[in-house]
Amino acid sequence: MKTKIKGATVVLETGCITGDIIIEDSLIAAINPTDDIAVDCEIDATGQIVLPGFIDPHTHMSLQQSEKFRAADDFYSGTVAAALGGTTAIIDHIAFSPAGSPLMTSIERYHQLATDAVIDYGFHGVIQRVDDDIITELKDIIKNKGVSSFKAYSTYGFPVNDQDLLRLLAAVKEVDGVLTVHCENDGITRYYNEIFAKEGKTAAHHYPQTRPNLAEAETVGRFIDWAGHLGDAPAYIVHTSARQSLQRVVQNRQQGQKNIFVETCTQYLVLDESVYQQSDEQAARFIMAPPLRTKDDQAALWQALFDGTVQTVGTDHCPFMLAEKKLGEADYRNAPGGIAGVQERGLMMYTEAVVKRNMPLVDFANVMSTNAAKIFKCYPKKGTIKVGSDADLVILNPNQTFEFKREVLKSNCDYSPYEGYTAKASIEKVFSKGELIVDQNKFVGKRGAGSFLHR
Ligand SMILES: [Zn+2]
Repeated sequence: MKTKIKGATVVLETGCITGDIIIEDSLIAAINPTDDIAVDCEIDATGQIVLPGFIDPHTHMSLQQSEKFRAADDFYSGTVAAALGGTTAIIDHIAFSPAGSPLMTSIERYHQLATDAVIDYGFHGVIQRVDDDIITELKDIIKNKGVSSFKAYSTYGFPVNDQDLLRLLAAVKEVDGVLTVHCENDGITRYYNEIFAKEGKTAAHHYPQTRPNLAEAETVGRFIDWAGHLGDAPAYIVHTSARQSLQRVVQNRQQGQKNIFVETCTQYLVLDESVYQQSDEQAARFIMAPPLRTKDDQAALWQALFDGTVQTVGTDHCPFMLAEKKLGEADYRNAPGGIAGVQERGLMMYTEAVVKRNMPLVDFANVMSTNAAKIFKCYPKKGTIKVGSDADLVILNPNQTFEFKREVLKSNCDYSPYEGYTAKASIEKVFSKGELIVDQNKFVGKRGAGSFLHR
């Protein structure tokens, strides 16, 4: 089966061209071929933009957050929503297994959970404890099991201590993997949580004060310092939100440190702490860690995205139903943490970055797709428009608008933090491995068509 996409603006890594793409079966077969190739299907995309399918490096599908709460999206509904937003691959942060489990326990469980996915998916492994067996297993998984990145937490139930952080960094460096860390200082967050509880300040609007910028920046600084100390071990900071964190990254890079990778998320770029000042019911909808920050932090993040300090934009997609979020209204500790966004990211980032702030399309493709593919080792199969790469493509129509209304957002969640937002483009078509899976904002793909992304 051969398909020709004709006459579009095609965003290559080297620049934009106007021309044709030939898809043959699952792959990109030719870009602007000189001779006439006979095809089965021709799509006129004049005036539209073809980009490499977006990669969301940070999602939480089918997440059991505690005994009480399960995220609203499973791998089917979550990847349908992702596809509708132009995303053709996700790398999911998987959940903990019972204490004492080997690392493969969670990974094997997620292989079962993800069989219904409609786009390709990878996993970041997860670290709960560190000992000799875990380090041996970690290296084996990175080398042989297609999971090249792992996540450790500095807070919640399983904070990684300094010695373990060093052991993990040394291990990933040895086998060319990546350590990703949720950076928030456990002591600082505990300190504030305890004081606030004693003073009865548990209403949802107090929540962001329990996780100040310093909590993030301190741990970012420590994480990358240790990585640098070990000879530039690959260190990836997830969901960066604070100006001070970015300053530490810039400082270490200026001293010559390499292999620091920085992710932010859509919510930190487009939402800010003012949502916590509305009502406690509203504030509870935005309980996530780190919390939303000030306009000043937001400006710093945009600057960092434009100057290359930040490499990737994820979503941390982890939605919970309104009734569950509402449990945090009077006491923020009772609500599950996380918000939706896997569908909204593509069009919202196009609008905010390209339309409003003039980000060049090549840079946009980098932060939405190419950089994540390179960092997480699925490039050039993913993340680029090149002959021989998977035909994962999104066609954007920049001449239409698209409003985020309940009926067009396909997450199972019953609210979107971005409802009412009007994007300055729409998703015309999405191809996953050469198959048309979204046509005019409608999902036309197949349950289970996604496969595991061996990275
Ligand atoms: Zn997360």
